[in-house]
Amino acid sequence: MHHINQIYINGAFVTPQGKELFDLFNPTTGQRIGQVQLANEQDAVTAIAAAKGAFAEFSRSSKDARIGYLKRMHAAVEGVEDELTQAIIEEYGAPISRARWMAKHAASVLQDAASVLQSYKFSRRIGIAEVVMQPLGVAGLITPWNSNAGFICGKLAAALAAGCTAVIKPSEMSAIQTAIVTRALHDAGLPPGVFNIITGRGETVGAVLSAHPDIAKVSFTGSTAVGKTILRTGADTLKRVTLELGGKSPVLILDDADLKTAIPLALQAGFMNSGQACIAGTRILVPESRLAEVEALMIKEAADVHAGDPRDPATAVGPMVSHKQWERVQRYIQIGIEEGAHLLAGGPGLPEGINAGWFVRPTVFSRVTNQMTIAREEIFGPVLSIITYTTEEEALAIANDTPYGLQAYILSSNPERAHRLASHIDAGRVLINTLAHEPLAPFGGFKQSGIGREYGTFGLEAFLEPKSILS
Ligand code: NAD
Repeated sequence: MHHINQIYINGAFVTPQGKELFDLFNPTTGQRIGQVQLANEQDAVTAIAAAKGAFAEFSRSSKDARIGYLKRMHAAVEGVEDELTQAIIEEYGAPISRARWMAKHAASVLQDAASVLQSYKFSRRIGIAEVVMQPLGVAGLITPWNSNAGFICGKLAAALAAGCTAVIKPSEMSAIQTAIVTRALHDAGLPPGVFNIITGRGETVGAVLSAHPDIAKVSFTGSTAVGKTILRTGADTLKRVTLELGGKSPVLILDDADLKTAIPLALQAGFMNSGQACIAGTRILVPESRLAEVEALMIKEAADVHAGDPRDPATAVGPMVSHKQWERVQRYIQIGIEEGAHLLAGGPGLPEGINAGWFVRPTVFSRVTNQMTIAREEIFGPVLSIITYTTEEEALAIANDTPYGLQAYILSSNPERAHRLASHIDAGRVLINTLAHEPLAPFGGFKQSGIGREYGTFGLEAFLEPKSILS
């Protein structure tokens, strides 16, 4: 059993003022595996004061000093890669290859921020003005459970690179991963108060971060509903915000695509991170004329997608993070059936041969219309919709007919055509014939997928304010 009863404030591990104990579960078994003592509002206020106290000096630290800190943090997190991988599997249920990638990513984002900082110029001349980029102040960083360690390190790396100090509120459901990352970051030996990590509830600790006058900036990754609450709460103090929210990404398969490669890629895009991915390609747009071929291939390929024990290297889809999430996904599968979509693969209930844990059958619906609930709402589970189109114009219209705009995929054998279509898609990222990640390119959403960008220079500047000095 894990008993986590410390938070990290002002460079020290302390017992929270909050008394609430929150249960932690292993989603593979559904068993309780520990408890975390949650921070409360008072803890949040103490952590903000510590970050504020550290800001004056840290914001004036040299670029070299901060690059040094980031490199030490990178080495420290890299040093716990194995432990973190195991924790991600135990507490979150990510399949082992994904869990390993997530643990590596948590370290590499620190290194990436160090490289960006290395080449970044904090001052430039525009006409007669010297324009200086100044750190915003204390940042409140709020992370979700579907990539908790990566978001802690990524947001913190950008904030510190800019010269901000931070209070981090990780997901309360990821306390084991947070404890490992916090210990590693502590070992990197930064000045006390520069970062503070307090696991607590969103409605308490998260709400204090969104409202407190000493927080200059909130960087949040999570649901669109909570993002809107944060925006409203932060309005009183005109906080700067970066919001990375939900998605309903289209996978546009063009009529010239080689379906033998396109369909497996579409399945990977849809089922990545067990479907619990904001960038998952959940709406698969296919030419009406090729529907029969697509359906036949999809049935064949989906049968090979193994849902089960995340420690088994053959597993592509692990369990849902919680029983609540499992119920949510089941409800959407039911809605898909009730609204008349055609079930091609998967369906309600547990996968065959599994009788414990929060597993979902990897599910593909066909003959879905873009107005059906399963095509409009973010399900956040392994449930995909095939939607047909007749012309390129219609395909683009369907792709863009969503409140979201985080990511899109185009699969085609004609790169020029794919690039032309990419320019018409309203999404922060468009991936053509690939699932690759570019860690220095901006990441974020159009429309209700968010505000602002993370990673690379854009992510760094999200923690800076330009100041023009004229003389
Ligand atoms: P969530 O919005 O429920 O919670 C995210 C974080 O916000 C948690 O730490 C939670 O405690 C906190 N929170 C909850 N209520 C709050 C409040 N009132 N004020 C401040 N903070 C509050 O999301 P989740 O269920 O943890 O994660 C799933 C969601 O995250 C999905 O919608 C998914 O699309 C989104 N997501 C987006 C991205 C992206 O980069 N765009 C990445 C991963 C996940």
